[in-house]
Amino acid sequence: MKNNTRNKSMLFVANWKMQKTLDQSIQFVQKHIDALKALNRQIILCPSFPALYPLSQLLENSSVFLGAQDCSPHELGAYTGQVSAQSLAEVGCTYCIVGHSERRNYNKESNSEIAQKATQLLHQNIIPIICVGESQQEFEKKQSIDVLHNQLEPVFKVIESQSSASTVCIAYEPIWSIGTGNVPDTQYLQNIFDTLKEWCSAKTSKTKYTLLYGGSVTGENIQQFYQVENIDGFLVGGSSLDFQKLKKIVS
Ligand code: PEP
Repeated sequence: MKNNTRNKSMLFVANWKMQKTLDQSIQFVQKHIDALKALNRQIILCPSFPALYPLSQLLENSSVFLGAQDCSPHELGAYTGQVSAQSLAEVGCTYCIVGHSERRNYNKESNSEIAQKATQLLHQNIIPIICVGESQQEFEKKQSIDVLHNQLEPVFKVIESQSSASTVCIAYEPIWSIGTGNVPDTQYLQNIFDTLKEWCSAKTSKTKYTLLYGGSVTGENIQQFYQVENIDGFLVGGSSLDFQKLKKIVS
């Protein structure tokens, strides 16, 4: 497929983490909403929780989508500090990141908890963006495929048990690449994405799987990822905070 044709259908997820305050998130969108729309690409902005509602008002009727960075594995109840998938739906989220390596690391999230989060999201018709990826040590020991298998197995199980058709994004993010400037080589990535594609194609449900790459993506290195088949889009951290950098990646 020609790069420019492929680019049109690609998904670009901006994970702002806790890097922008509420005011900064609002100002970013107010300033760049017209330029974001003009890019004519599938862009998803994922600010922190307090910014979701104001951004949903600003993005209303636009082609730019809203995503959260996490949700509760529970439906509702006495879970202080957690945010339900239902609230995310009510606030206008169409996507939600779950299982980011920073949450797996700092919040000790397990694969089964992440699968529960994905279930809650699917019940609310929110598209889960499920992050998976190996550590530097696992990469060096050539354990990446085993790690991905272990991370995805519980997720596949719950997704495949859903009766209705859904869309699920799987974001391959090698931990050693996040925020480091180090990116995997093309051949290595091709093997990973061929494997992920094979696993998803073998599933029998009506689920549509979209495969993303994340880890130090910039406007300077994006071209090399287009050589890898089966990458349907990108999850971008650092380079999504600055509009000009995001624009360079997306366009
Ligand atoms: C991320 O944290 O999901 C990420 C991809 O970050 P960065 O682009 O900064 O490596």
